[in-house]
Amino acid sequence: MSRFWSPLVHTLSPYVPGEQPKIADLVKLNTNESPYGPSPKAVDAIAAAAGEALRLYPDPTSTALRETLAAHHGVAVEQVFVGNGSDEVLAHAFRALLGHESPLLFPDITYSFYPTYCRLFDVAYETVPLAEDLSVRIEDYRRPAGAIIVANPNAPTGVALTRAEIACLLAEHPDKPVVIDEAYVDFGGESAIPLVADHPNLLVVQTMSKSRALAGLRVGYAIGDAALIEGLTRVKDSFNSYPLGRPAQAGAIASIEDEAFFQDSRAKVIAGRLRLVEGLEARCFSAPASSANFVFARHESRPGAELAAELRARGVIVRRFDAPRIGDHLRITVGTDGQIDRLLTALDEILG
Ligand SMILES: *Cc1c(COP(=O)(O)O)cnc(C)c1O
Repeated sequence: MSRFWSPLVHTLSPYVPGEQPKIADLVKLNTNESPYGPSPKAVDAIAAAAGEALRLYPDPTSTALRETLAAHHGVAVEQVFVGNGSDEVLAHAFRALLGHESPLLFPDITYSFYPTYCRLFDVAYETVPLAEDLSVRIEDYRRPAGAIIVANPNAPTGVALTRAEIACLLAEHPDKPVVIDEAYVDFGGESAIPLVADHPNLLVVQTMSKSRALAGLRVGYAIGDAALIEGLTRVKDSFNSYPLGRPAQAGAIASIEDEAFFQDSRAKVIAGRLRLVEGLEARCFSAPASSANFVFARHESRPGAELAAELRARGVIVRRFDAPRIGDHLRITVGTDGQIDRLLTALDEILG
């Protein structure tokens, strides 16, 4: 605390990211990173960009990257926005689109950055409880609202809405901005990007951090109507003209172009998820069906806090949220087969 702080700073409750401990031989299953690493072509492109040209500012509009993303997703370049991780893209969306007199709606159990941004940007919000089975029920969003944001698949549950359900949500709310945060969509969800053409109020946000294993590069993007993108760009150019450095732009382009590597690593994660779920179910855990690169599991009798601590003592880190309804759940990232085995072996020891 300092008397030099602005009044706003006193009111903030910052997002707390999963820890990045520096312990050797750790099985790190707490922040949904990919165990398979980025495309080697992306690594080469980053290295090639990290030369003498770094003395020059990067392209402030990231046009080559936006063209690559536009071609990949079948949209126009004016419909693509890029930022320093999708967290920054989301921050600009909160600023540009989500603050209205009526409250922003999002699920009570979801990405905990949303309420943090609301406080930072003074956006009024209301949370909508998930159903008993932890799914989002779109009929519960029929209430006065200025805007809606939904993570799909949701975090930390992994539960996905279908594209048809998102289309229903959009049909019910044609007059307000709807943001769909698709950080995990590549692991089995259905993207809402095909709905952008018919819905000028829809913004779809994706990231290179999870399915493309580039969390350390910080590249996220949004796709929507050109007028929505212009709103984001106005905020971005009022904040930081150069959110993506040269290595980030080059690495992200190379990653998108390496479709074979992407398909291979996401298939491995999806296969690993099945293995993880079967192993957990055999040990008396239950979890809603996950369309993400993590599983949100709860043991039939043992408290989540105790299990997380016991796993940690055995060098296995998972994420637990000290929040109503989900305090006994563990969010476990899908690791390699070897990491999944280490987790299951540790659980066998703990559960006896
Ligand atoms: C990981 C995550 C993000 C942010 O990812 P970046 O690394 O900032 O691109 C956004 N939304 C959800 C739901 C996430 O889990």
